[in-house]
Formats: sequence, structure tokens, C-alpha cells
Amino acid sequence: MTRTQVGIVGAGPAGLMLGHLLHLRGIDSVIVEDRTKEHVIERVRAGVLEQGSVDLMNEVGVGDRLRAEGMRHDGIFIAFEGQRHRIDMAHLTGGRAITIYGQNEVVKDLIAAREASGRPLHFEAADVRVHDLASDQPRLTFQHAGTGYEVRCDFIAGCDGFHGICRPSIPAGHLRIYEREYPFAWLGILANAPPSSPELVYSLHDRGFALFSMRSHDVTRLYLQCDPDEDIAAWPDERIWKELRTRLATRDGWAPVEGEITQKGVTPMRSFVAEPMHYGRLYLAGDAAHIVPPTGAKGLNLAMADVWRLARAFGEFFETGQRGPLDGYSRQGLRRTWRAQRFSWWMTSMLHHAADENAFDHKRQIAELEYLVSSEAAMTSLAENYVGVPLA
Ligand SMILES: Cc1cc2nc3c(=O)[nH]c(=O)nc-3n(C[C@H](O)[C@H](O)[C@H](O)COP(=O)(O)OP(=O)(O)OC[C@H]3O[C@@H](n4cnc5c(N)ncnc54)[C@H](O)[C@@H]3O)c2cc1C
Repeated sequence: MTRTQVGIVGAGPAGLMLGHLLHLRGIDSVIVEDRTKEHVIERVRAGVLEQGSVDLMNEVGVGDRLRAEGMRHDGIFIAFEGQRHRIDMAHLTGGRAITIYGQNEVVKDLIAAREASGRPLHFEAADVRVHDLASDQPRLTFQHAGTGYEVRCDFIAGCDGFHGICRPSIPAGHLRIYEREYPFAWLGILANAPPSSPELVYSLHDRGFALFSMRSHDVTRLYLQCDPDEDIAAWPDERIWKELRTRLATRDGWAPVEGEITQKGVTPMRSFVAEPMHYGRLYLAGDAAHIVPPTGAKGLNLAMADVWRLARAFGEFFETGQRGPLDGYSRQGLRRTWRAQRFSWWMTSMLHHAADENAFDHKRQIAELEYLVSSEAAMTSLAENYVGVPLA
């Protein structure tokens, strides 16, 4: 049996950033992850960092590559009825912006920082379990390289994503779940093609939603609204490009540059919140506690905000014995989460066609988009939510 102050389950952005923030405060932690290091680094997911996430990466010393390679975007485009409209987010929010930097790059930087700290990070851990959560000494057990481990902890942080083991370890009846499944999904691709627009293009077309995005100066990321049970095998590359051209091209002659597709997949769309974000000495952070549809680009950023607050709360407890910030962790996190849920739901419903919609709904959507791109108040509302509120 070994001992640590915080046992962290999961080495995604939440678990790795939490481990790093605790390290900077001199707090011990053990991180256990059930996948390989390569899998965790290569998993292609988010790519939009809010201003607060960028500032955090810089402040805690893991922002060198982000500053060199990240692509700051001051605005986004909203396209409908063949026209693109730019929303100047930096102008509307006093200079705040988003930065395009792949989640896999964030994870790579955080793994490098963890390895440099010399603190434990176990990949390929099997049979990870948490025990005695309601006691003062919860335990983390797992198998690693054929050996069984037991770690006694002061706290456990459940950073193991939506399908992890921490949230299901909380006794039935303690959590209240709020959930919504959307009647569509996103078919996403990565392509070796330089971005044909300097900023993201969100588009509503008669055939459904499409998003032009990017990961670097050479790689574009594009998404199409599709059915939740869409068979990716029915989408050869040429069909994907044809559909993207149809939904994205605008009358000014703009269309995405095409290139070799290197990855494709279908992502379901779900909103999910578990309340409260703790049980006994187990604290949930990131996707373990909440999921947003990707339209608002909030998932990774919510995970960063959770662990920023959790690290401060653990710090306060270990430094002064005060439990106040830990007791307020869930309440404050849920306020930010619900704000992001509302924004993500609004972006999703404004920009997608649902199967049960009729002509009225379509006209209402176009009216909403016309209002959005013609009203400074409406654009400011989108901008301040998209770039994100400061960490608090
Ligand atoms: C296609 C796609 C596009 C997205 N786009 C965006 C975007 O543009 N912007 C944005 O902000 N968000 C986006 N998101 C959401 C974002 O990727 C997630 O919100 C983010 O990964 C959450 O980080 P996390 O650390 O909480 O969870 P995860 O990244 O899921 O990490 C959890 C970790 O725990 C590990 N784990 C699971 N079970 C166990 C176990 N039993 N034992 C040990 N370890 C375990 C997992 O392997 C994983 O490494 C997107 C998601 C997807 C799928």
C-alpha cells in the first residue's frame, strides 16, 4: 500500500492539468490511465481553446508550443443562404479571442510537464477502482504491468471522462442526472489541406449543418450533420467532399480546399450534467461530470475550468485546513457548466435541422440567424460566450 494526497483517475486534459496544478502547489498525486500513452496523445478531439484556457496554459508554464504553433482567431463566420457573415469577437469582447490548438497537443504538453516533474503517471492501468469514498481515506486500486497496486488517498479526483468508472462508483440516488440526446450527430474528418478561411465557418444549409475548422496551417477539420446511426462506410471520400462543398460554399466563391482525408468518424451529440459534482471525498471534473454538444466548443474548456478550481480548493484545504472552497466546488462548477450547456444547446438548435422540424421552424432559424448577424447586441452575446468567461 502506498499513499498520496490526491489520486487522479484519467490522463485526459482534466487529469493531466489537475496533476500539474497540484505539483506547482507542492501537492502529491498519482495519475492512473487505462489507455496507452500513444492512444491518449493521438486521440483527435477538441481544437478550440477559450482565452481562459490559453491564459492558464501560459501561466502554469506549459504554453511554449501553444504560443509558437497555436492560431489565434479574433472572429468566426456564420454562413446561411449562401452568404458568410463575420463576427469580430475580439472587438466585441475587449480583445478576447479563441486559439486553435489541438487537444492532442495540449495533452502532449501536459504529459511532458508531468514526466519532467517525476511524479507518478501510470498508463495502461487495468481494473482501476475507487473505494471507501465516504471515508477520510478513500483508496484507489489498479493493476499495472502484472502487479496489483493500492493507493491510500486524502481525495480522489474522477477525471476519467464520460465512460469512466468514478461517476458510476457513486451510490445510486446520490446524483441527479440531467440529459438530452440530439436526433443528429457529426461526421468529422481531418484532411491534409491548408485552411481556405483564416477563421472557422459555421454553416446552416437546407441539407443541414456543416463546420469548417482547422488544426494547423496544413490540416483542416470539417464536420457535417448526419444521422446518429450513420454508417461511416457509406461515406467514401468523394461523397464527403461533395456534401461539404454543397453545404459550405458561399456565393462569394469561397469553398473549403480539399485534400487527402486522413481520419473520419461519427460523434454523437449529447448534453449531460451530473449534480452534484462530488460524493464524499470523490470530486468529479470534466467529461466525468458533464458533456456538451461540440457546437459551442466548450467541453475541453469546461474541463480546464473545473480543475483550475479544484486545484485551488485542494490547495486551500492542505495549506490551511479550510473546506470552504471544496464545499463550493460543485455549486460554482455547475453554474459555469449550465451557462455552457445553454450556449451549446442554443448554437446547436440554431444551426441544425431536426427531423421533426417543419417549414415554420426553418423560417424561424433563418430569422434568428439574420438577427444574430445584424445586431451588435446579439453578436456580443455570442462572442462573449464563445471566447469564454474568465476562470472564476
Ligand atoms: C469529436 C469531438 C470534438 C470535440 N470538439 C471540441 C472542441 O472543439 N472544443 C472543446 O472544448 N471540446 C471539444 N470536445 C470535447 C472534449 O474533447 C472533451 O470535453 C475533453 O476531452 C474532456 O476532457 P476530460 O479530461 O474531462 O475527459 P477525457 O478527455 O475523456 O479524458 C478522460 C481520460 O480518462 C481515461 N479513462 C477512462 N476510463 C478510465 C478508467 N476506468 N481508468 C483510468 N482511466 C480511464 C480515458 O482513457 C481518458 O484518457 C470534443 C469531443 C469530441 C469527441
